[in-house]
Amino acid sequence: MQTLGNGDGKEFASHAPGYWAGNGGIAPGLWNDWKWQLKNRVTSLAQLEKFIDLSDEERSGVLLSGDKLALAVTPHFFNLIPRDNPNDPIRRQVIPRIEETWASPYDMADPCGEDSHMPVPGLVHRYPDRVLFLVTDRCAAYCRYCTRSRVVSGVGEQELHTDFEEAFRYLEQHTEVRDVLLSGGDALIFSDDKLDKLLTRLRAIKHIEFIRIGTRVPIFLPQRITPELCAILARHHPLWMSVHVNHPRELTIEVKRALECLANAGIPLGNQSVLLAGVNDDLETMKTLVHKLLICRVRPYYIYQCDLINGSSHLRTSVAKGIEIIEGLRGHTTGYAVPQFVIDAPGGGGKVPINPGYVLYHDNEKIVIRNYEGKIFEYPEAGDDQTVQFAPQREYHDEYLYS
Ligand code: SF4
Repeated sequence: MQTLGNGDGKEFASHAPGYWAGNGGIAPGLWNDWKWQLKNRVTSLAQLEKFIDLSDEERSGVLLSGDKLALAVTPHFFNLIPRDNPNDPIRRQVIPRIEETWASPYDMADPCGEDSHMPVPGLVHRYPDRVLFLVTDRCAAYCRYCTRSRVVSGVGEQELHTDFEEAFRYLEQHTEVRDVLLSGGDALIFSDDKLDKLLTRLRAIKHIEFIRIGTRVPIFLPQRITPELCAILARHHPLWMSVHVNHPRELTIEVKRALECLANAGIPLGNQSVLLAGVNDDLETMKTLVHKLLICRVRPYYIYQCDLINGSSHLRTSVAKGIEIIEGLRGHTTGYAVPQFVIDAPGGGGKVPINPGYVLYHDNEKIVIRNYEGKIFEYPEAGDDQTVQFAPQREYHDEYLYS
């Protein structure tokens, strides 16, 4: 195993060829070919058992959860999984477990309420000036907690039938839409040509100022981030990208190179993590992750409280854990390294920022605040003649509790 780093826990490793080293190994040309990686994904119980020792929970999970979300892991990502530890944080994210078939009373099929905000099949228009464009239902690998598992991977309870022409027509007519987020599924598994055509079509709509791609491909399939792809993406600026890394070990040498290639193409990179039990629900893991992200020129952007997706209760943590992690980062490390912790309000309320309580008191005369060390400070309010409105939090709270 090749590693880069100075032994402080923030090393970047390369595991290739790992489990694929047998029978004379695999030619580097093939290993580095993203189409080979996709063709050779681990997708069956037999393949899994060839490489790793499955626990009973995993074996039953693979057999029983296949009609919810497919199993698929690229060889690159699979090499991060140890042979004999079912509780490994990488393994918990991509290997099904029997708990996925358990129903919790809070579980939902569509926790973000996307289907009820879809004016055109595949286009979610929930916020005034931006849309989510679900361009495919396929990903390089599948995350067991995926918020869109109802449609993603093609085996869930719904099918995605994106109507591209209708979506383009809708976008042309809705001049208030200035921001389009491409997601799915994962747009970066499209061929160069298909992606270029899609971006060119969007760029022809003059009021679209800003395009974002939400993707886990640089992590699951860093081989996809070729110089040719980066050159195509750079033709469609301003184009931003949100990647999805949950654990510091996911940031390998290959992933670091891929992220640097994207950054060199002028693409601002942000990271979205999901807070997951047994994966990243502790401060030290998160701190290592955000530091490694900055080394890779990626700004930690969001930590999501895990959505109430069907069969994910074993991966969900308390909200308090997320607040504790932010409390341990804010002020204690570089501000750029501190993501915003959010809950995507169940049923379609959008992202709500959740912060430790830094404001102790606030009225028209002063605000009383505490810093990261718990020291208390007072700052005077402007004292101008404006009437400042504060959210009557207490009243909302009482109304909710006693209604
Ligand atoms: S990459 Fe994103 S869309 Fe695909 S399975 Fe993972 S969370 Fe879901």
